[in-house]
Amino acid sequence: MADKVWLGDKLVEEADAKISVFDHCLLYGDGIFEGMRCYSGKVFRLKEHLDRLWDSAKALHLEIPMTREQVTDATYATLKANGHDDAYIRLVVTRGCGNLGLDLDRCKNPTVIIIAQGLSLYSDDLYVKGMKLVTASTLRMPSSSMNPRIKSCNYLNNILAKYEGTIAGCEEVLILNHQGNVAECSGDNIFIVKKGVLYTPATDSCLLEGITRAAVIEVAAELEIPFKERTITRHDVYISDECFLTGSAAEVIPVTSVDNRIIGSGVAGPITTKILAAYRKMVRQ
Ligand code: PMP
Repeated sequence: MADKVWLGDKLVEEADAKISVFDHCLLYGDGIFEGMRCYSGKVFRLKEHLDRLWDSAKALHLEIPMTREQVTDATYATLKANGHDDAYIRLVVTRGCGNLGLDLDRCKNPTVIIIAQGLSLYSDDLYVKGMKLVTASTLRMPSSSMNPRIKSCNYLNNILAKYEGTIAGCEEVLILNHQGNVAECSGDNIFIVKKGVLYTPATDSCLLEGITRAAVIEVAAELEIPFKERTITRHDVYISDECFLTGSAAEVIPVTSVDNRIIGSGVAGPITTKILAAYRKMVRQ
């Protein structure tokens, strides 16, 4: 639980952190967000998260009512007010209040919300034994409709896909794009390893360009693991030697079963384990 939440231009008690029913973020999912991590008092890759937030805002004609410096200060103020050195941070910018129509020119006052909480996502043993995935029948939205590079508050595509996994007893789902190739998962990017080479779907595969994805690509270079971005099919995933997901919350988490095909030896593989360890070191540097 967060005790204090940043709302608009100040910190308020959690019980008072409320927005209007006329905010288009509530009425239409019209808003943008970032999910970030703070490690030992420092927000990991804050600049990259703010770059992505500002890019999402630009694509949606949304004017963020604060400067990057103000958002940075507000983020650290929220962490401090809740006594967090290690936390998950949710940064949201809502479209603001309008009427019941869709006209965004009538929406005044986008609202910045910052929530900092302790994190408990996956258990430690899942980082060894790995997650099970199934392929969702819900496809990733094509970029011509709603570009997945925009991190918007409309996550219904992801929610519906993820629930298919829940029904199947899986923690995550493999999501395909309209070409039938692998895009990503409901809240994470995906990597595979084949014959010592690390692969991830290219950015034109309909995916969110994860900050963790970029950090893992850097980690792989430091570890001298050969890496390629390319089109990945489900078959490539089934026959991979290793598979793992990346995301700010999950960090680097192994996948050991996809659509009932055991991946590699059925536990976290050696390259995944190496990358996870190097990533965990990197975030605290
Ligand atoms: N893809 C989707 C759909 C996501 O929502 C996220 C973030 N939860 C990611 C990938 C991973 O992004 P990041 O590494 O920036 O957290």
